[in-house]
Amino acid sequence: DFRAILITKDDEGNQEVKDTRIAESDLMEGDVTVSVEATTVNYKDGLAITGKSPVVRRFPMVPGIDFAGTVEKSDHPDWKPGDKVILNGWGTGETHLGAYAEKSRIKGDWLVSLPDGLTTKDAMAIGTAGYTAMLSVLGLEDSGCKPADGPVVVTGATGGVGSVAVSILAKLGYEVIAVTGSPEERGAYLKGLGASTIIDRNELSEKGKPLGKERWAAGIDAVGSHTLANVLAQTRHGGTVTCCGLAQGFDLPTTVMPFILRGITLKGIDSVMAPRQLRERAWSRLATDLDKSKLESLTTEIGFDDLIPMARKIIENGIQGRVVATF
Ligand code: NAP
Repeated sequence: DFRAILITKDDEGNQEVKDTRIAESDLMEGDVTVSVEATTVNYKDGLAITGKSPVVRRFPMVPGIDFAGTVEKSDHPDWKPGDKVILNGWGTGETHLGAYAEKSRIKGDWLVSLPDGLTTKDAMAIGTAGYTAMLSVLGLEDSGCKPADGPVVVTGATGGVGSVAVSILAKLGYEVIAVTGSPEERGAYLKGLGASTIIDRNELSEKGKPLGKERWAAGIDAVGSHTLANVLAQTRHGGTVTCCGLAQGFDLPTTVMPFILRGITLKGIDSVMAPRQLRERAWSRLATDLDKSKLESLTTEIGFDDLIPMARKIIENGIQGRVVATF
């Protein structure tokens, strides 16, 4: 048997979270077994462990939506024992037993190779948040956005998606405007990651005008609600804004004005079901376009014992940047 965190639900619907041991025979169907070396704490993992949102749709469940590790056994043609792999999403930690265990059995189709230049620990310091940040940057690039077009705004900037997005954009030569709830306390952190201007999120969090002054060429949003509506209303003619999150809210109280008068494009980002080719593209770009020293400066290291408390913390107080757990 091996160590795992298990979420169970009793007949009255009460959820319990235990740090326990499970057997290989408890694992679900799959053609690849991976020895998990690193994982992380995403907002979604916090929701699963606290039970605040119905993220978990099968009980008992091992939470954890992403991991990196080494293949132990494989009946899948693409993978053999010893291969270093990454898994993000596909329902792990939601409908399929997830990452908070020393072993995981999953479908080989869900895995991508650990790119050269990254360790399993680096991959989980990046995690689903960082991989989503890269998908967002690719979304802007694919729309034709270039550093010479002008500044890119990033919302939820001190969070996981935001911190990695700021770092990547800065390394690629973009001027970055970072939007945060703590400009005084965390402005220096964001400038260290490469942001040139810091905006207080209060400026964008209330209902605004359908169209405003054109302040940025493009945007990466992890916040939704009025913030995203205001980002759209202040994007320059022809610009693209990506949308991946709902930290402020899942509503989007906008009008058609940015779309019909300025030709703005709103590009949705979904990391969970993204096709393998796009995942591979994102991970190979993460290996080259994210500064290692910046990744270190935005990452906190924890161990297996800290997973449950950290999952509670991300929901209660939020955490700055990224967390990586190594086993
Ligand atoms: P996170 O680390 O908790 O960061 C979210 C950030 O948003 C916070 O750090 C905070 O930044 C800001 N924020 C929090 N509450 C806010 C509010 N009421 N109004 C405005 N800003 C607020 O989470 P994350 O891992 O970066 O994820 C960000 C979002 O993306 C989450 O909603 C997550 O579920 C989503 N996500 C989606 C995908 C996908 O596939 N679509 C993948 C990963 C994550 P400041 O303190 O700097 O303001």
